Amino acid sequence: MNASHPNPQGTLFVVAAPSGAGKSTLVNALLEHEPAISLSISHTTRPPRPGEAYGEHYYFVDREAFEQEVADGIFLEHAEVHGNLYGTSRKTVQDLMEQGRDVLLEIDWQGAQQIRAAMPDCVGVFILPPSRVELERRLRGRASDSAEVIERRLRNSREEIAHAHEFDYIIVNDRFEDALDDLQAIVRAVRLRAPLQRGRHEALIEELLAPGV
Ligand code: GDP
Ligand code: ADP
Ligand code: 5GP
Repeated sequence: MNASHPNPQGTLFVVAAPSGAGKSTLVNALLEHEPAISLSISHTTRPPRPGEAYGEHYYFVDREAFEQEVADGIFLEHAEVHGNLYGTSRKTVQDLMEQGRDVLLEIDWQGAQQIRAAMPDCVGVFILPPSRVELERRLRGRASDSAEVIERRLRNSREEIAHAHEFDYIIVNDRFEDALDDLQAIVRAVRLRAPLQRGRHEALIEELLAPGV
């Protein structure tokens, strides 16, 4: 971020994790505590899981419609993950950020790389499970995917985790409340960064610097 030109826009948070690490559960809990952050709803060709609703969890589309959206340039980033296509709408993110909202993307490492290249001021958070055994237990315990889909996600977890070092922060989601505390601490620290604070408190700083006793 350029120190002399504080960003008047919101902050873009990018959260990634291997499937089953607890990313969506943590993000949903964060958003309950931090209503000022907006979650970007992705487009995907993955079929909905039981209980998932169009426009709430994802915009579920077929492959043909998704490919047309790619050709139309509507995506800020898109990638193939576990055999399905996922993408983030450029307009949704831009509109929210221009309103000064903080925006959070739950995306995979490939999408995170594209976002980092396009928006270097973004803040990346990677969530690790406490062990492989626990990752597998959570994936199976979620009971939302077939055995075949679970196996594929477990196989792909190594590739996702190999990119953890590209992120600004890493959280181990062992005890849920501790991991949520860590995520909230990151959000608070980002909001206190000097360039943003200087912009917010310009009048206060001027007053404190004014001559006098
Ligand atoms: P879960 O997050 O593992 O429960 O499973 P999902 O099927 O919802 O997501 C699968 C993967 O796709 C995860 O790594 C997500 O972070 C990623 N993903 C979801 N939405 C997007 C998106 O819009 N763009 C990209 N690049 N990845 C996404
Ligand atoms: P992801 O979005 O990373 O695929 P989810 O948020 O769906 O993962 O979490 C996977 C499963 O693990 C869910 O059933 C969730 O309730 C559970 N879970 C998440 N965090 C924890 C934790 N710290 N301890 C135990 N179970 C957890
Ligand atoms: P799921 O299908 O279990 O909801 O998500 C599978 C993976 O797709 C997750 O790791 C998730 O982060 C990723 N994903 C979800 N939405 C997007 C997106 O918009 N872009 C990218 N690149 N990945 C996404």
